[in-house]
Amino acid sequence: MLLHVPTLAIVAGCISLGFALCLPLSWRLARAVPGLRCLTLGMAIAGLSLFLLPVYDLPLPRITLFVASVLLVLSSVLSWYGLRVMLLPGRPPVLPLVTLMIGHPALVLYFSVLSPFVQMRLVVNSLTLAGMAVAIVIVLIRARQTSPAVLWVMAGTQGIHAGFLLTRMVLMMQENTLQPYPVPYSLIDRLLFLEVVLLLFITALCTVMIVAERLQRELTHQARTDPLTNTLNRRGFQELAERELLKAARSARPLGVLVADIDHFKRLNDTYGHAAGDMVLQYFCALLNRALRQTDILARLGGEEFVIVLPETPPSEVMDVAERLRRTVQDTPMTFRDFLIPITVSIGVAYYPQSSDTLEGLQACADSALYRAKKSGRNCVSDQPLASEPHSVPIPRDDQVAVTP
Ligand code: GH3
Ligand code: MG
Ligand code: MG
Repeated sequence: MLLHVPTLAIVAGCISLGFALCLPLSWRLARAVPGLRCLTLGMAIAGLSLFLLPVYDLPLPRITLFVASVLLVLSSVLSWYGLRVMLLPGRPPVLPLVTLMIGHPALVLYFSVLSPFVQMRLVVNSLTLAGMAVAIVIVLIRARQTSPAVLWVMAGTQGIHAGFLLTRMVLMMQENTLQPYPVPYSLIDRLLFLEVVLLLFITALCTVMIVAERLQRELTHQARTDPLTNTLNRRGFQELAERELLKAARSARPLGVLVADIDHFKRLNDTYGHAAGDMVLQYFCALLNRALRQTDILARLGGEEFVIVLPETPPSEVMDVAERLRRTVQDTPMTFRDFLIPITVSIGVAYYPQSSDTLEGLQACADSALYRAKKSGRNCVSDQPLASEPHSVPIPRDDQVAVTP
């Protein structure tokens, strides 16, 4: 017979269990992606309940059917929870899920045993499962950062599943002689089980794609980020700054580059210890991030040296920002145990397009100006490269040479 329901249920169960059993092969992967274990457990439980569904010639079919429907609801609750954790920020609400997991079995039990009413049991099961499918669709629609195509395919299959459940419920309600078991399977039953096979297959495939994308994103983030300060590293900076420079060239807007180096950092390390030095680096970045605009780019070039790009900023403002940063660092010492550690910074400044029209040139000019600031006694800002430097260029501003406190 075409679309034999018990066979379809067993195939669907195999897909679910297969997916769930393959995951422990890479347990580290499951640990790296929050929510994945919960989703997998949901798939395993769906597999078990699908194996139970067609086995009507078991003793106590009423109980078998009850257990299968409770397991199906539990599996959709776990799948919803797993996807919610995986795709959306914040902790998912647990109370509604607990209420559902108590309320659903209680109602099914009531309409199966205490007051047998097959139609109501069908309504309770169908509405609960369709409701969970819609809740999963909402999570998928709200999710960002994953390819929309993958999310829409998953959301589409869940939406179709809810549609099948509700249609089957309406059609079966119209039948006068509704038998709980064993039932002659109608066309909608056959189509529903075929749809469940596809749903589970697509869910397993899309979950793998979501996990792969997420790991790829994390690797890219790690490759561009300095782990100590959580700012961009040299590589991440290069990419963003080059893009900003192209934008500046296209729109003929000015841009500023600052190279900042913490003064006497080696002495600080020697006096307070390397751990304090690390904390100073983190503290310094937090101070700068708070003082800068969201569009500015801050990166750690290495050691205690940082670079900042100020997009769409004319030279006079660039100098003001640099001076403001220097003063903020000077005025906000860091508390470490019982010590108040004073921090100062020297900053070299370069302007696009006056100093150079390449990122390399701008950094070299700012570096050279930093060297001059160090020579001028530290804790100061300079926009004048040393005359002896090969990349030094005359800067068309004579009002602000080496702003010294
Ligand atoms: P100047 O005022 O001329 O910049 O002197 P300085 O002591 O700041 O510069 P120097 O280049 O002589 O020393 C930099 C020190 O920074 C040496 C190095 O041990 C330390 N350092 C580099 N990276 C780290 C780090 O990640 N953590 C800590 N705590 N120290 C670091
Ligand atoms: Mg230094
Ligand atoms: Mg240095």
